[in-house]
Amino acid sequence: MVVGVLVELSNKNIDKVFDYNVPDNLINDIKIGIRVEVPFGRQTLDGFVLEIKDNSDMELKDIISIKDTDIVLNKELLDLGLYMSHEYLATLISCYQVMLPKSLKANINGKSNIKYDTFYRLNNIDLSNFKLNDNQLKIIDLLKEKELVLRSELANISISSINTLLKKNIILEEKYEHYRLNYSNKTINKNKLTSDQLSVYNEITNSNDSTYLLYGVTGSGKTEVYMELIEEQLKLGKTSIVLVPEISLTPQMVSRFQSRFGDKIAALHSALSDGEKYDEWRRIARGEASIVIGARSAIFAPLENIGIIIVDEEHSDSYKQSDSNPRYHAVDIALIRSKYHNCKVVLGSATPRLESYARAERGVYHLVKLLNRVNGRSLPKVTIIDMAHEMKNSYGHFSKLLIDSINDRLDKGEQIILLLNRRGYSSFVTCKNCGNTIKCPNCDITLTYHKTSNTLRCHYCGYGEGNLTKCPECGEEAINDLGCGTEKIEEELKKYVNARILRMDYDTTSRKGAHEEMITAFKNHEYDILLGTQVVAKGLDFSLVTLVGVINADTSLNIPDFRSSENTYALLSQVAGRAGRSEASGEVIIQTFNPDHYAIKYSKSHNYLDFYKYEMDIRKTLKYPPYYYLVFIKISGKDMNLVGSEANKIKRSLDRNLTGTIILGPTTCTIFKMNNIFRYGIIIKYKKCDNLKLILDKILDHYKTNSKIKIDIDFNPSQML
Ligand code: ADP
Ligand code: ZN
Repeated sequence: MVVGVLVELSNKNIDKVFDYNVPDNLINDIKIGIRVEVPFGRQTLDGFVLEIKDNSDMELKDIISIKDTDIVLNKELLDLGLYMSHEYLATLISCYQVMLPKSLKANINGKSNIKYDTFYRLNNIDLSNFKLNDNQLKIIDLLKEKELVLRSELANISISSINTLLKKNIILEEKYEHYRLNYSNKTINKNKLTSDQLSVYNEITNSNDSTYLLYGVTGSGKTEVYMELIEEQLKLGKTSIVLVPEISLTPQMVSRFQSRFGDKIAALHSALSDGEKYDEWRRIARGEASIVIGARSAIFAPLENIGIIIVDEEHSDSYKQSDSNPRYHAVDIALIRSKYHNCKVVLGSATPRLESYARAERGVYHLVKLLNRVNGRSLPKVTIIDMAHEMKNSYGHFSKLLIDSINDRLDKGEQIILLLNRRGYSSFVTCKNCGNTIKCPNCDITLTYHKTSNTLRCHYCGYGEGNLTKCPECGEEAINDLGCGTEKIEEELKKYVNARILRMDYDTTSRKGAHEEMITAFKNHEYDILLGTQVVAKGLDFSLVTLVGVINADTSLNIPDFRSSENTYALLSQVAGRAGRSEASGEVIIQTFNPDHYAIKYSKSHNYLDFYKYEMDIRKTLKYPPYYYLVFIKISGKDMNLVGSEANKIKRSLDRNLTGTIILGPTTCTIFKMNNIFRYGIIIKYKKCDNLKLILDKILDHYKTNSKIKIDIDFNPSQML
């Protein structure tokens, strides 16, 4: 038997199937879609079996071993990988690897780690010939009572007694697989849908369309509708995928699904350990879980017979893989899988992507709406504070109204969420003498000051500098901390309010489980104020929160990105949506230096449609999505001049070969230097361009053996850094 194997190296030169002979003793275990170890040049590599062929006359090397008993990549996923590889111009191996949890990727150094429980059982032999001590008799008595006893149940009996019994064959050892996570199968009563929810549910179930955009304001009960749709599929014997942005995939969210669907759910997200993900994946592949709830890559969950795919907060840019190949969008994959399974896709958001809403307007997606909050609760009242007029009062980064309102809520025993908008923003450090901003020596960005550790750190490469007292540029001891990080804001806030403040940011949530603990503590009212970065804006549902404050709405407006208004509008709407989700009504205070900016003005009236229309006009004028498609080409390398000149060559070649496109650049990227690598970008705008993929693929081919230049291609990029 001969098999075609795709090995783990992601390199355009090697990205094809190589033939290997299968030794006779392994033939029975070979299946398409499992992993094998093979010799490759002088190395040993892992690879996926993609083809089984007849014997060939050629002299072939033998595969070394087989790694899996169960199939890792089924037929659907194998085909999907091929599609992705063409669609995103990525190597086929990278498309398969991205689908799999770490322990199932092809990786010669990686071990799949199944966890076993050890049990003991009495062997059926005559005990009269043995002399047994008390401990041994205790074990035997226990095993007479209970057929199988878990090792941990024998914890207080010495291990040597167990071993002696094993050696004498009096007891037998058996190992059974043990999933690391377990879900209770207890479920609680579900909510009865409101009439609004019911009509959306009916519209989706009774229509034949395949893709739906559920535009529903925050707190309108979208999640309840999702659960009802899933339950319907469950009754039909079908499975479901629910995608949630990583950041809002809190235990709160998972437990909400678990309390409705019990142990039918499986969760896939980054807070799980490799072993936990491995177990969840296998439970799914074995058909032991029928509802998968997870972040971006959960779209590849190996479910059979999918009945519905739901993408919550569909506007979230966490659904786009931006930093490595394949640069895919989970919604696009959802649409492909829905064709295969002939199932529906529901995209939900209070602030849909412009691209999505435009498709809904054109009838490509079926638009359904939830315009009111559940049970007549009102959307929070939003007040916009012009910080330019506040500078004279002495509350630092806070307006008088915000401080007064915080104190008012504290008096009433209510809770407060404060957002420090830090998208693309750093608390930077400058020199008072020469004005120098302290930058990372490897990356072209400012270092961030961390008060607790008294260090300056680079958020891109991790570079750190401690105890900075002198300016590295002019040598004066005049370092000025202009920082406005959460730590600084917390310190400031403590001067004006007497409250228990919980700080949530990149630093405090990096430890595994920290995010979860914080949310629980806040929910239990162990704190009054939750102060944090973007993490506090998403999906949280706390009934005691009646006030949301945005400290600086502007920072995300200043990013050089055509989506900065859209992202700012979405962020403000989402964070505002955290207020007043229960009986008490909510209030939002937004501090800004740009009170007249449309992204801020429209968030006051919760008016997505007005924002949408305004922004669409701008996109049309400037020829941006959804009117045009974009491709972003990044050219990078260590030698700045070489990168620049190759970027120009690429631009000229694009000019020669493409028609009907607008080609911008090359320009230096927003972050020109990262990790000592220089980066140039070219943007292609187009409505229709038949030979685009062909030409881009030729460029990739041209550079595939060039170790000095790296080319990254991103279709429909969500960021162009
Ligand atoms: P969204 O996902 O649109 O933000 P949720 O589904 O989280 O909204 O609902 C907001 C709040 O209203 C939640 O606390 C939820 O439990 C509650 N809720 C939603 N639908 C109902 C219903 N039909 N009956 C009672 N409570 C509901
Ligand atoms: Zn750096």
